[in-house]
Amino acid sequence: MEGETTNSAQEIRRLQRCMNDLVSVLALPAAWSGGESQQIVHTLLKALLRVLALDFVYARVKDPNGAVPVDTLHIATSGPLGRSPQTISAALEPWLQDDAQGQTAPARIRLDNEDISVFPVWLGPHGEIGLLLAGSGRDDFPLETERLVLNIAANQAVVSLQQARLLGEQKRVAGELDNWVARRTAELAAANEELRKEIAEHQQTEHKLRRNEEALRDAHALVARGEELWRSVFENSAIGVALTDLEGHFIATNPVYQKMLGYTEEELQKLGFDDVTHADNQAANAALIGELMGSSRRQFQMEEQYRRKDGSLVWVRNNVSLVPGTERLPQFLMELSEDIAERKYAEEALRASESNFRLIVDTIPGQVCTLKPNFEVELVNKPLRDYFGLALEQLKDWEFIGVVHPDDLERVIAQSRHSAATAEPYSIEHRCRRHDGVFRWFQVRALPLRGADGQVVRWYLLLIDIEDRKRAEEAVMASERNLKLIINTIPALAWSARPEGTAEFFNQRWLDYTGLTAEQASEWGWTVALHPDDLDRVTSYWQAAVATSDSVEIEARLRRSDGAYRWFLFRASALRDDAGAIVKWYGTNADIDDRKRAEEHVRRSEAFLVEGQRLSRTGTFSWRVETGEITWSDELYRIFELDPATPATLELIGRRVHPEDLPMIGDMLASAQRADSQFEYEPRIVMADGSIKHIHLIAHAVRDAEGRLEYFGAAQDVTGRRLAEEGLTRARAELADVARVTSFGVLTASIAHEVNQPLSGIITNASTCLRMLDTDPPNLDGARETARRTIRDGHRASDVVMRLRGLFSKKEAAVEPVDLNEAAREVFALMLSELQQARVVLQSELSEDLPLIQGDRIQLQEVILNLLRNASDAMNTIEDRPRHVRIRTSRDASDDICLTVEDTGIGFDPQHTDALFQPFHTTKSDGMGIGLSVSRSIIEAHRGRLWATPNDGPGATFAFSIPRNPEAS
Ligand code: ADP
Repeated sequence: MEGETTNSAQEIRRLQRCMNDLVSVLALPAAWSGGESQQIVHTLLKALLRVLALDFVYARVKDPNGAVPVDTLHIATSGPLGRSPQTISAALEPWLQDDAQGQTAPARIRLDNEDISVFPVWLGPHGEIGLLLAGSGRDDFPLETERLVLNIAANQAVVSLQQARLLGEQKRVAGELDNWVARRTAELAAANEELRKEIAEHQQTEHKLRRNEEALRDAHALVARGEELWRSVFENSAIGVALTDLEGHFIATNPVYQKMLGYTEEELQKLGFDDVTHADNQAANAALIGELMGSSRRQFQMEEQYRRKDGSLVWVRNNVSLVPGTERLPQFLMELSEDIAERKYAEEALRASESNFRLIVDTIPGQVCTLKPNFEVELVNKPLRDYFGLALEQLKDWEFIGVVHPDDLERVIAQSRHSAATAEPYSIEHRCRRHDGVFRWFQVRALPLRGADGQVVRWYLLLIDIEDRKRAEEAVMASERNLKLIINTIPALAWSARPEGTAEFFNQRWLDYTGLTAEQASEWGWTVALHPDDLDRVTSYWQAAVATSDSVEIEARLRRSDGAYRWFLFRASALRDDAGAIVKWYGTNADIDDRKRAEEHVRRSEAFLVEGQRLSRTGTFSWRVETGEITWSDELYRIFELDPATPATLELIGRRVHPEDLPMIGDMLASAQRADSQFEYEPRIVMADGSIKHIHLIAHAVRDAEGRLEYFGAAQDVTGRRLAEEGLTRARAELADVARVTSFGVLTASIAHEVNQPLSGIITNASTCLRMLDTDPPNLDGARETARRTIRDGHRASDVVMRLRGLFSKKEAAVEPVDLNEAAREVFALMLSELQQARVVLQSELSEDLPLIQGDRIQLQEVILNLLRNASDAMNTIEDRPRHVRIRTSRDASDDICLTVEDTGIGFDPQHTDALFQPFHTTKSDGMGIGLSVSRSIIEAHRGRLWATPNDGPGATFAFSIPRNPEAS
């Protein structure tokens, strides 16, 4: 344990010594600088002998040019070796042989009865510089530390020796050069002398010589000027220039350089480059100069600090180059130095202001961030970091971490890319996610900061929270949408225009109607929808109106999207501001096409009316009962054959009316004045020439808005018709008579049959009655019954006779309530036997609830009889099917009473239906062809209709219908 401690202590001491030795050895080159090899070897050996306490040290330095090597031996005076250098040299002979380089191990030799350890250290990688031999009596020599010191010392010495050798070479070369110059000068001088002699001898040669001299002088002057020029450049250069030898000693410096360092020229010449260089830069400088020497580069540049004479430091930029040597000049270093203290200071200040700026950005109360020119996030101030709840590092990835609303992100990225490329500032609105996940709207403004060269050096982003404004805007937009909805849903075409009249807005209805887009219609575009015939009128009217008036109203046609034109009423009013200037025009277009059409229609129908009145000989009139005011149409004046200028009065009318009809007219007027009524009369009027006109007069009451009574009516001149009707009635009556008479003959047989039946019944019953009375006792009950039957049959016979009489004797038509079923049954009774003979089966379907009708019973029975007989006639050739007649009575939909007679007879050609009803049209050999025509006039006299239709099957159907309450004519 103790031994170890002792060893450690020794080791430490040893190491310390070694360190000291190294320091001593490393200090050597300082002393060698610029020295010759002999001096270097000498100091080296001396130092080693002392430092390592050697007994001797020997050095052999070889001559590069092959001259004899120089051997140096130092022996410790206090050592055991005597002063016999020859002995030592001889003992060292084995290492001094040419082939001894490989020996690097220490060896022990015997010398002067002493055992000496010898350690060889070769100078230069292959001993080309020489050899160092260290000797010590110690048998542990050399220790590891001693080897180190020796090797380092040897290396140092090699460098110094090489330098010294180079220096020596330079000196030698310079010496040779000087010798050469001296020799050449001497030769030239000799030549000159010879020339002079020749000049003396030859004038021409003399002249030549003079010229030579002049040329030489010129050359000298040229050289002097060049030198002066160079000097001037050197002295006046704006940057510091220093020339140093390859060791760094100053050869020459210019004033700028001197001033920069605060030394004089003389002072500097005693100094080396390293003396003015900051310690930190020396190693780097040495390395770079080494590179220059190794000719791997021609020059280098570096920024470094110089130490001035007063100890202060100054920043310079150095450009160092190696100037190659010439015949007369060795190569040297040229150093161009620029004082960059100010620039460095500015950079420093910039750095300071930069950190200041960061501080400012961070303390701004608004939300700010700065970006690099490529839009990379550089700085985010605290309020903004707090808003996002994220750190700067996180915010650098803003594109990916969802801080910008996904719907806005693409737009924001596009904008920032665009601005990064173009340096354009921008303002954009988008949503940013707050730390709690809520998105709020921001207005983000980006402004570029440009450097002196105009390039963007930084972007400033200002984020302004506009959430509240956005909400307000949205509310406004919503109410605008609402308004727009209202405008678009009002059932009108609406628009607005600017004060000067150019269109600004059209509602959806307007656009839908015209099929134009808002862009197409804007300004004057809408005029394409105007009808070409209206275009000029409307545009000139509109232009004039906007200039002069407050409201506008014009009618014009507008083209619908399908190309159809419709009439519109264009209406617009101006909205004025407080100063009375028009701000806007608001207008609507109302579709008046239907009104326009109606107007046209009215105009036409008025024309029709006038024409119609004239053609139909119908005049119209109105009569205001209260005022007695009567208005007549022109046609009415014509009918009354009065001058249209004459005002129509009741009195004037009274004078024209036929005296027989006056009371009727009087009654009519009286009741019309009393209450609202509707009347229809046919009075006669007497013309000035005594001719009579039949007037069909019809009028009805109308109350106006104030409740006043007024009659509107029409009066038709029906004289012609009336006369014709009268003729027709007469003819009909006559025809009917004829018909009756002809029917009479046919009926005779059936009458006989009809009457015969009850008569034979009477006879039979009467005989039976007698027989019953004759029995004993007499059958009184039976007799009474048969007597009763006799009486019944008697009545039947008398009924038949009575009906026949009625049928043939009745002349005048009489209106009475008639039961059509009953009337039909009576006809069946009359026709029964005739139908049986003709083998016709009669089927009657008489409606139960048939109301009574107003009419002439006999005439109606005549019609039924006619139809029944025609049916029977139509079937008298039919053998292949039953001869059926079906009679039906019914009420139809309009409450008319109907009777149909359907047979299975031969039928008729439907094309000739009308002919059947023509008088005297018959297909029968014994027919007269008046039955149907008389029947039709009877039914029409009852305001009814008689018609014929062919059956679906065989046969035909004849039918008539009569209104329930026909107003008998
Ligand atoms: P007449 O019976 O004297 O011929 P009408 O005027 O009664 O005169 O009849 C005219 C014609 O109408 C008849 O000749 C007959 O051709 C046709 N006609 C009338 N009723 C029928 C019927 N039920 N079926 C077919 N034809 C008929």
